[in-house]
Amino acid sequence: MSSKRLIEQARKACETRGARFTLVREQVFSFLANSNSAIGAYELLTQLQQLDAKAKPPTIYRALDFLIEQGFVHKVESQNAYVLCSHFAEQHKAQLLICDNCGDVQEIQCPEINTELEKAADQYGFKVQQPTIEAHGLCKACSEA
Ligand SMILES: [Zn+2]
Ligand SMILES: [Zn+2]
Repeated sequence: MSSKRLIEQARKACETRGARFTLVREQVFSFLANSNSAIGAYELLTQLQQLDAKAKPPTIYRALDFLIEQGFVHKVESQNAYVLCSHFAEQHKAQLLICDNCGDVQEIQCPEINTELEKAADQYGFKVQQPTIEAHGLCKACSEA
């Protein structure tokens, strides 16, 4: 999907939910929509500063918090970076396949994985709060190369 269409979709979703898709939020969203791999907050800030020289780190973090809350973006903890979500649902449990060679991040949704993880964790009295699972390896293109 083109980034233009993704932005349209995000704006519509916000309208439906009564959330404000402000210019900064839209700009950060579009940086992520135009990238195939995850982007760190610092790099996002550098990109934003080309449009608005006054942008500061809290600007980026507030925009990212909003986008995560809306389910548009996932944080990739192991890369300390952010990636656009391809599913556009409200908050959901996702699994991320991260290529250690090219940095490509592919999202899959397999609810059984989370259900089983939660069941297993429960046996230890552990409550899973951050349910995104990250798997590292090689993407199709890299493993065929
Ligand atoms: Zn997602
Ligand atoms: Zn790869």
